[in-house]
Amino acid sequence: GANFRCALVTGGNKGIGFETCRQLASNGIKVILTDRDESFGAKIVQQLNVSGYLDVVFHQLDITDPTSITRAVDFVKTHFKKLDILVNNAGHMGITIVNEEKFRAGDGFVQVSDEKAHLLNDILRQSYELAEECIKTNYYGTKAVTKAFLPLLQLSKSPRIVNITSFYGELLFIHNDNLRNELRDMKNVTEERVDEITGWFLRDLKAGKLEENGWPLTVSAYKVSKAAINAYTRLMAEEYPNMLINCVHPGYVITDMSAQTGFITPEEGAKAPVMVALLPNDGPSGKYFSQLQITPF
Ligand code: NDP
Repeated sequence: GANFRCALVTGGNKGIGFETCRQLASNGIKVILTDRDESFGAKIVQQLNVSGYLDVVFHQLDITDPTSITRAVDFVKTHFKKLDILVNNAGHMGITIVNEEKFRAGDGFVQVSDEKAHLLNDILRQSYELAEECIKTNYYGTKAVTKAFLPLLQLSKSPRIVNITSFYGELLFIHNDNLRNELRDMKNVTEERVDEITGWFLRDLKAGKLEENGWPLTVSAYKVSKAAINAYTRLMAEEYPNMLINCVHPGYVITDMSAQTGFITPEEGAKAPVMVALLPNDGPSGKYFSQLQITPF
C-alpha cells in the first residue's frame, strides 16, 4: 500500500511556494514542486536534491494553461497514484509598480487604503489587461487546478487543499454593503455567482465604475480575486466534507511579489501554509487562517 503522503505546490520555484515545498519535504512529505518555467523549476529541484531533499520532484505547471494542468495530473497519477495535499500558491498581483523607491518606503503595499487611492497613481498602476490576468490566474487558474486534481485527492486517506490567499482578500475591502454581506454570509452564493461577481468587477473597472459600485480602489483585481477564492474555498469545503479545504494569509512576506518589502522571510511565511497542509484529520475546514489564527472572512 501507498504509505506515504504527497503534496503538489503551484508556483514552487520561489518565494512562499518554494519554502512551502522545502518545509513539507522536511516533514517527510513527497513533494511535486511545480513551476510554469520548465528549465528554471527543474534546476531548483536539482539543487534541493543535492542539498539532501531527495523526495522533491519537478513538474511543469502553468495554472492558466489547461493542457499543462492535464499533463501535471497525468504525471501525479502515474508516479503517485493519488494526491494528499494540494497547495494553490501561484499568484499574480495585477499591478505594475511605477516607483519602486516610493513603494519600498512603505507607501505602496502596507498602507494601501482606498481613501488614499488618488495619491498612489505615481506608485502603482493597474491596467485592465493586468487586472484580467490577475483574476484569470488567482481565481480561475486556482479553480481549474483544484477541479483537475479532485479525483486524485479523493483517493487520499487525508485530503487537504490549501489556498494561499491574502489579507487583501478580506471583505473589509469591499465597500458595497450588499456584496460584502452576500460574501460574508454565503447563503445563496454558488460558484456561478462568484464567477459572475468577478465578471461584474472587470466590467466596472473598464467602465470606470469602481468607486460608484463600492469595489476596492487600489490593487483592486488582486483584492477581488482573493475574496473570490476565499468564497470558493467555503463552497468547496461544504461540497467535499471528507476533505480539509482552507485558505491562508501567509503574512506580509519579503518576496518578488512584494518587491522585496515585507515583515517576514519566506521561511517564516511558509509556516502557516505548511501548518494548514498538515492539519490532523479532525482539523477545521472552510476556514480562513490569518497566519496561524482562524479569522473571520
Ligand atoms: P512570488 O512572486 O515570489 O511568487 C509567485 C509565484 O506564482 C511564482 O512562482 C510565479 O511564477 C507563480 N505564478 C504566477 N503566475 C503563474 C501561473 N500562471 N502558473 C504558475 N505559476 C504562476 O510571490 P509570493 O511568494 O509572495 O506569492 C505566493 C502567494 O502568496 C501568492 O498567491 C500571493 O498572492 C500570496 N501572498 C503573498 C504575500 C506577500 O506579502 N508576499 C501576502 C499575501 C499573500 P513565475 O516565477 O514564473 O512568475
